[in-house]
Amino acid sequence: MTSTAPVRRAIPPVPVLSLAAFSGGRRAALPSLLDGADARLVTSGRVAIGLALRALGVGDGDVVLVPAYHSPSMVPPAHWCGAEVAFYRVRPDTAPDLADIEAHVARGRVKAILATHFFGIPHDLTLLRALCDRHGIGLVEDCAHCFFGARDGVAVGSVGDYAIGSTMKFFPIYEGGCLVSRRHRLDVALHGAGAGFEMKAALNALEAAFAYGRLPVLRMLLALPLRAKSALWGALKSRGGKSGGKSGNKSGGTTAPALAPSSSDSSFEFDPRWADKRSSWFSRTVLRAVSPARIVARRRRNYLDLQRALDGVPGCRPLYSTLPDGACPWMFPLLVDRPQAVFDALLRAGVPMTRFGATLWAGVDASVCANSADLGRRLIAFPCHQALDDGERAWLHAQVRQALETCAAVPA
Ligand SMILES: *Cc1c(COP(=O)(O)O)cnc(C)c1O
Repeated sequence: MTSTAPVRRAIPPVPVLSLAAFSGGRRAALPSLLDGADARLVTSGRVAIGLALRALGVGDGDVVLVPAYHSPSMVPPAHWCGAEVAFYRVRPDTAPDLADIEAHVARGRVKAILATHFFGIPHDLTLLRALCDRHGIGLVEDCAHCFFGARDGVAVGSVGDYAIGSTMKFFPIYEGGCLVSRRHRLDVALHGAGAGFEMKAALNALEAAFAYGRLPVLRMLLALPLRAKSALWGALKSRGGKSGGKSGNKSGGTTAPALAPSSSDSSFEFDPRWADKRSSWFSRTVLRAVSPARIVARRRRNYLDLQRALDGVPGCRPLYSTLPDGACPWMFPLLVDRPQAVFDALLRAGVPMTRFGATLWAGVDASVCANSADLGRRLIAFPCHQALDDGERAWLHAQVRQALETCAAVPA
């Protein structure tokens, strides 16, 4: 194999729309979060967490237990309910540490526990469910990484009192999350977020597809209207966007009107103004129209192909040695010996990656949970979503292999 400088190439970090997304059939090999559940489609997973906690009666003075390995977006929904958050330990494979949860519960005031199926691999929550039942604690299953799946015949989302999903992590949509329950009726009323939001949700999903060369015919047809939209957008921005109120825009630049929640913008924030807003018509339609069978089959295939491509490559090992039959992966989590060097090399090459847990809530460090700190430091997750085509996957495999081999060859 000749070693050349990495060719920078843009591959979609998240699913984007394509015509193929609609073919492949409705019958997925795995159950989805929405099967047989009362459901509300909202604009993000974090909003769904807030609504789930509220439905459990979480309020002032209560404690919500959150995994020490987490996304900072999982914490503010508990604060929104008035609760405090305490962090429980996870095992090296991210499973909840039940002994540590018991210790937290013994301190009192624990009203709800958030349990996450990380990276799309369902945990067995039987014992945690029993613990919650013994103590009268509500269980929220965080299926943000696990929209499809089952473990020992038990569908994901069916063990918790409530479960939440982040539909935008699995579907080619700009915004979306869901609150579901197979155990309780949902008493949650949602409202539309307005025409501006509806338009933005549709256009952003289409533009994301166009940016990666998908839907070329539609792109041509929409070229003129999209230019008009850009002009309109510019005009709105130059007016100062006074209607936006407090901005969720980290850049601190122009304050655009809050036409869409910052949760769709790689932000960890929780914006209460979106707590009662329905997901857009476009997102809901795509969610229903694309093939779930294709999502499950391709994500599993892409995961296994990447695992094979990295077999024997030095300086790394997959977080999970096998992909369970009941899993539909969110991303491919890899433990890397020299994470910063590998990450920097891949960043230069333009490889999309997620370092889940690299940013933890203030105060959560190795003294709280050594496994979480270690995962946050060493884990790099790579895309395995359904929209990657063969060329993009081959390029991804070559880049990751090359970066790992190069970094392993350099003396520490
Ligand atoms: C992304 C994520 C969430 C929140 O989902 P959003 O749709 O981004 O609000 C919750 N839990 C986990 C584990 C996540 O990764």
